[in-house]
Amino acid sequence: MKTWNKNPVPNDIKSQTRAELEAQFAVWEQPVYRVKQLMDWLYVQRVGDWDAMTNLPKALREKLRLEFSLGRLELARKQGARDTTQKFLWRLADHSLIESVLIPANPSLYGEPSDRHTLCVSTQVGCAYGCKFCASGLDGWKRNLLPHEIVEQVLGVERWSAEQSKADRPKPAVATVAEDESQTSEAQRESADLRLPHYAPRNPGNGFPGPRLVDNVVIMGMGEPLANYDNLLKALRLLNAGWGGRIGARKITVSTSGLAPQIRRLADEPEQFSLAVSLHGATDAVRDRIMPVNRKFPLKELASALEYYQSQRGRIITFEYILIAGVNDDLAQAKPLGALAKRLNAKVNLIPYNTVEGLPWARPEEDACEKFLAAMRVQKIVTTLRREKGHDIDAACGQLRLKTERELSGVTLIS
Ligand code: SAH
Ligand code: SF4
Repeated sequence: MKTWNKNPVPNDIKSQTRAELEAQFAVWEQPVYRVKQLMDWLYVQRVGDWDAMTNLPKALREKLRLEFSLGRLELARKQGARDTTQKFLWRLADHSLIESVLIPANPSLYGEPSDRHTLCVSTQVGCAYGCKFCASGLDGWKRNLLPHEIVEQVLGVERWSAEQSKADRPKPAVATVAEDESQTSEAQRESADLRLPHYAPRNPGNGFPGPRLVDNVVIMGMGEPLANYDNLLKALRLLNAGWGGRIGARKITVSTSGLAPQIRRLADEPEQFSLAVSLHGATDAVRDRIMPVNRKFPLKELASALEYYQSQRGRIITFEYILIAGVNDDLAQAKPLGALAKRLNAKVNLIPYNTVEGLPWARPEEDACEKFLAAMRVQKIVTTLRREKGHDIDAACGQLRLKTERELSGVTLIS
């Protein structure tokens, strides 16, 4: 029988902004520098225990303990692909499962230099938007993630990386591992995770005692981020803050299936977060077929919200365009896609579809993908074709969780 723990703890310390903590500390008649000390323990030292915060008076630690939880995500499962994409399945306090995907060196994604690590994080348990091709929405929506559950995905992966670096084991050559792995089953690969070429910390200084790993965050995991707007924005501010996660706003990309009113809202925020739009079709006919959200916010409305975003921001928007055989890979779509990209100063990421068990869609042949790419470039649209990473580890959002939920339905995961 499935055992459910408790409701998510709403009052986690990592869901608090600095201003909120300062207000709380004022009520407790604590000097303001104590907040700075607390922030250091949380985001620099990254301790998981109140008693480790040795420069805070014991009485204050007790107050904090009573008022807030100090939660960490629990790693329920991890998969690593041959190309070293790593997928993390986290179990939350209420036993919900969410995913994060770590993608090293992916220059084609957002034009960053190739020594970058991008982490794809989730914002909801499941998704209510029900795009026809997507695993995240297959079992519906369960709940919104709280700010700390979003922030902790980044911290949890960096914690994992720090543990990897600490463990003093000889590193096998990359080529040997790749060879070995091609001959092992997925289960063997999973249990052999620690043998994977590990992630070298790039900037070990940077004020952190442990290695920094994540340079870019993309909000492209499970869920529709703009449907969890307030918690999302709070989490992004915590990740962006100089006293918090210290990830530049421009290095945080929010992806949406097209929630026009929230795109306008995002345009009015002071931070320069980047925006990606899951377009997947350049006409209402195509989008209506695969993305129910388009009936609520058809292309005309979406484009007008994006125009507003552009006018406020002057930032380049990214269009995500999954290529699905026989659905949207017709070269006839390339023209309206090019026109829309031109109008909105957008670049286009073409992504060959990742097949999802139980769904009828397939990725087009490589040749068809290349032709679509050429049809975009001929229109002088900045376009990339993702030569997929992580295809073999169910890397598209929601797939690992769905698989695990189904495999383990009726049992408790890991005790
Ligand atoms: N809800 C948001 C963010 C999460 S989805 C959004 O839709 O933008 C992140 C991206 O993964 C989206 O572009 C989505 O369309 C894409 N995606 C979902 N299932 C996929 C699959 N099977 N193969 C490739 N991309 C997929
Ligand atoms: Fe939800 Fe995005 Fe998947 Fe659509 S593509 S079901 S909006 S997670």
